[in-house]
Amino acid sequence: MIIVMQLEATQAQIDAVAGAIREVGLDPLILPGEDRVAIGIPAAIKPDQRERLDSMLGSLEGINKISQTSRPYKLASIEFKRQRTQFEIKGVGFGPDQFTMIAGPCSIESYDQLDEAAHLVQSAGGKVLRGGAFKPRTSPYAFQGLQEEGLKLMKQVGDARGLVTITEVMSGDLVPMVAEYTDILQIGARSMQNFPLLVAAGRSGKPVFLKRGPGATVDEFLLAAEYVLNQGGSQVILCERGILPLDRSYTRNTFDLAVVPVLKEYSHLPVFADPSHGTGVAKYVPPMAKAALVAGADGLMVEVHPNPREALSDGSQALTPDQFTALMADLGKLAQAVGVKLA
Ligand code: PEP
Ligand code: MN
Repeated sequence: MIIVMQLEATQAQIDAVAGAIREVGLDPLILPGEDRVAIGIPAAIKPDQRERLDSMLGSLEGINKISQTSRPYKLASIEFKRQRTQFEIKGVGFGPDQFTMIAGPCSIESYDQLDEAAHLVQSAGGKVLRGGAFKPRTSPYAFQGLQEEGLKLMKQVGDARGLVTITEVMSGDLVPMVAEYTDILQIGARSMQNFPLLVAAGRSGKPVFLKRGPGATVDEFLLAAEYVLNQGGSQVILCERGILPLDRSYTRNTFDLAVVPVLKEYSHLPVFADPSHGTGVAKYVPPMAKAALVAGADGLMVEVHPNPREALSDGSQALTPDQFTALMADLGKLAQAVGVKLA
């Protein structure tokens, strides 16, 4: 942390800042500049020290700017773990050197619908099936998902086809139930800061697919991942799925692809991208899916439905079977060009 004092800061104000730093048990380093003084803290600051110091500095006069030189997250940071996180779930790899496709319908609607989608995913080379059983819908009158019945269908189809499965869990209480039926727990964008859910998911020992909240900064996103890691979860996948848009008349969200290389610079965790929720429009999904691969994402989550027009949720962004098959073929060529394995 570096505290830059105002031009006209008095010696008493400088001393007060140095005193606050000492009070939390750290040593201030006074850096006299040409026209103003800066005060550095060379040692690592523990979270409780940072919190006390932030509130003390907030009430002091004469401060121009406070810059953080270290990041607020630790377990999620690349400094903490210099090797990229890589793991396998039922033989399917997640992490560097491979590009892993997660695909399936937004909601699980019936056995036939899910099995047809699973067949499509598998025929195109996909190994991970998605489908929501508990749906976070904006309106309480919209389809809420088949709930436990949907989880059972997911397990049935996943087992029969030998696919890895992923489904969303919306509350901490439901973690044990959802964990019983599926391989990966998805934490949705709206739940990214549901802290008891993050804790419960971390304690479950299951892999966690964490979606970025629509209004979440990079620090908030990585701190949400930190909650899971801090509880012992080690298999965490980050997923960009679009942030609040400036203009909703063309896309549902703003797909923040630039965050992919950013997250890969600051974190060791695998980074995925979801162009379905990122754009909300099926025809924009293939170009953005390809862009995500080239931007360095470790995989994608895309929605595909046997008949999008009949989908009970997110039909307008679901790829048709033909669109999905064509996308997989294009991704295969791109994966080869950038030297990753499409899984
Ligand atoms: C979903 O994956 O269907 C979903 C609801 O995603 P998000 O949490 O990104 O909105
Ligand atoms: Mn959806």
